[in-house]
Amino acid sequence: MGGKRLEGSFDYIVIGAGSAGCVLANRLTASGKHRVLLLEAGGEDRNLWIHVPIGFVKLFADARYNWLYSSEPEPELHGRQIIQPRGKVMGGSSSINGLLYIRGQAEDFDHWRQLGNAGWGFTDVLPYFRRAEDQERGADELHGFGGPLSVRNVSEPHPLCEAFIEACEQAGIPRTDDFNGSSQEGAGYFQLTTRNGRRWSTARGYLAPARKRGNLAVVSNALTTRVLFKNRRAVGVEYRKGGAIHTARANSEVILSGGAFNSPQLLQLSGVGPADLLQQHGIEVIADMNGVGADLQDHYEARFYYRCTERITINDMMGSMTGRAVAGLRYALFRKGFLAIGAGYAGAFARTDPKMATPDVQFHLILSSSDAVGQKLHPWPGFLATVCPLRPESRGFVRIKSADPAQAPAIQPRYMTAQGDRDCIVAGMKLLRHVMRQSALKRYIVEELAPAPKVVSDSNYLELARQSGSTAFHPTSTCRMGGDATAVVDERLRVHGFESLRVADASIMPTVVSGNTNAACVMIGEKASDMILADASAKTTPLAA
Ligand SMILES: Cc1cc2nc3c(=O)[nH]c(=O)nc-3n(C[C@H](O)[C@H](O)[C@H](O)COP(=O)(O)OP(=O)(O)OC[C@H]3O[C@@H](n4cnc5c(N)ncnc54)[C@H](O)[C@@H]3O)c2cc1C
Repeated sequence: MGGKRLEGSFDYIVIGAGSAGCVLANRLTASGKHRVLLLEAGGEDRNLWIHVPIGFVKLFADARYNWLYSSEPEPELHGRQIIQPRGKVMGGSSSINGLLYIRGQAEDFDHWRQLGNAGWGFTDVLPYFRRAEDQERGADELHGFGGPLSVRNVSEPHPLCEAFIEACEQAGIPRTDDFNGSSQEGAGYFQLTTRNGRRWSTARGYLAPARKRGNLAVVSNALTTRVLFKNRRAVGVEYRKGGAIHTARANSEVILSGGAFNSPQLLQLSGVGPADLLQQHGIEVIADMNGVGADLQDHYEARFYYRCTERITINDMMGSMTGRAVAGLRYALFRKGFLAIGAGYAGAFARTDPKMATPDVQFHLILSSSDAVGQKLHPWPGFLATVCPLRPESRGFVRIKSADPAQAPAIQPRYMTAQGDRDCIVAGMKLLRHVMRQSALKRYIVEELAPAPKVVSDSNYLELARQSGSTAFHPTSTCRMGGDATAVVDERLRVHGFESLRVADASIMPTVVSGNTNAACVMIGEKASDMILADASAKTTPLAA
C-alpha cells in the first residue's frame, strides 16, 4: 500500500487507476478529510516506452500493460475480429494511448443534456475541461492553465503535415490552429498530452502528486472481482492480489472506473446486469438491468496507404540504424522529432455534406505505415491517412463469458451495422481521397496503395472499409447515463436503484463524443469528484434552521 496509517476500511474505494480513476483519487483525497483506496489491476508505469510518446506503438501487444482484448467476429466485417487494446497499468489507457488532445464538439455535450442529463451541457462541462488543463497556449474562456493535465503543441512542423493541411484547404476544409476552439472544423496539427516531450498520463498529472498524501492507499496488481452489497447498498469490494482474496470496506461509496469494457463486466460479475446472462453463469441476480454492457459504441476507421517520394516518414527513421540514432539523439537533446509525437501528427474535422451543422468525420495523418495496426512498419517510405465517422449509430455489447473475473468478456461493437454508419464512412472516404488528390500532396505521393485504382464505386469503398478498417480505440457507453429504462447511471453517475455505487469513466457517456475520448474521460473524473464531495457534505451538513 502506498499510504500510511490505513486499515482495511475506507470512505471511498475507486476501482481502476485510468483516465478517470486517477482524477478521482486525486480530487477525493485533496481535502485530507477522506480516506481513499485505489485498486488497479495493472502494475506501475515504469517502462520507458510508456513515457516516450511514440512508444505507444510498442504497447499495442505488450501483455504487461495491456488487456489485449479482441472483439468477437464482427457481422459486417466478414467475421473479422478487431483488436481492442486497453491500458492495464497506472494511468490506464492514458498510459498507452496516442496522446491526442481532443475534447469533442460543444454540441455533443448539449446533446447529452438534451437527452435529459441535467448538468452535462457544454457550458456545464467546460469548467471541468478548463480546470483539468495546463494549456501551453495559456488560459482563455475555452482553455485552462495550471491544471494537472498538460496539453502541448507538437514540437515542430513536418513537410508532409504542411502539405496535408494545404491539401485540405484546397479541398475546402479551412486551416485551424485549435480543434478545441470555438469551432472544431478544420485541418491542422494535433495537440498532445505531453510535458517536456514526455507522455503526461493521468498517473503522472493526477496520481503522482496524490500518492504523497497519507489518506490515499494505492494497490497495484489488484484485480477487483466483486462489489459487495448489503441489500441495495454497496459496502465494499473483493479483490485478488498475489493469489489471495482480500476484502475492503467502503463507508461512503464504491466508484467503478474500470473503463468501457471492465466496468460493465464487474457489475455483471457482481450480480448487476441482464438476469438471463447472469443466471447462465450461475451468478446471483441482485438487479436485473439489461443496460449493463449494452449500447457499446466505438469509432471505426478506414485507412488509406501511400508510398512516399521522400525518406521523411517514421518508416525511414525506424528502418535504419542511423535513422534511429539521429532520432534518439534529437529526442534526448531537444525532445523533438518522431519520438515526441503521438498517434497522429496532423488531422482534420470535416463535414461530408456542407448542409451539416458540424463535422461528421475525423481524419488522422499518420507518418508511418504497416499492414495492420501495431504491426511491423513497411521497409519503404510510407504514410497513411484515416477517416472515421464521428457519431456512430451502431450499438454493440459487452457480456461476461464466464463467472471467472480473470476471463475476458465478449466484446462486440457491431461496427457498421447501422446503414447511417456505412453511408458516412463511404462519404468520408470519398472526401479523404479528394483531399489526398490535391496538388499540394502530389510531390509526396509515388503511389496510392489503398484504395487501389479499381476502388471507384460506393460499394468498392464500403468493401475496402469492411476488409481493412479497424478501431480508433474509443469504446464508450456500456453503463450509459440517462433516465430511460436501459440507462445504468443517473446524471450524478449513481447506479439506478443502488446506494453508494457510482460509475465514472468512458462507459457513462450517453453517446461517444465527436473526437478522441481521453479528455472527456478526464472531465468525467473531475465532474464526478465534485458531485461525490458535494453529496458527502450535504449528508454531513445539518439543515439550516
Ligand atoms: C491504443 C489506444 C490509443 C488511443 N489514443 C487516444 C488518443 O490519441 N487520444 C484520446 O483522447 N484518446 C485515445 N484513446 C482512448 C482513451 O485513452 C480512452 O478513452 C480513455 O483512456 C478511457 O479512460 P477510462 O477512464 O474510461 O478507462 P481506462 O483509462 O482504460 O482505465 C481503466 C483502468 O481500470 C483498470 N481496471 C479495469 N478493471 C479492473 C478491475 N476489475 N480491478 C482493478 N482495476 C481494473 C484498468 O487496468 C485500467 O487501468 C486511445 C486508447 C487506446 C487503447
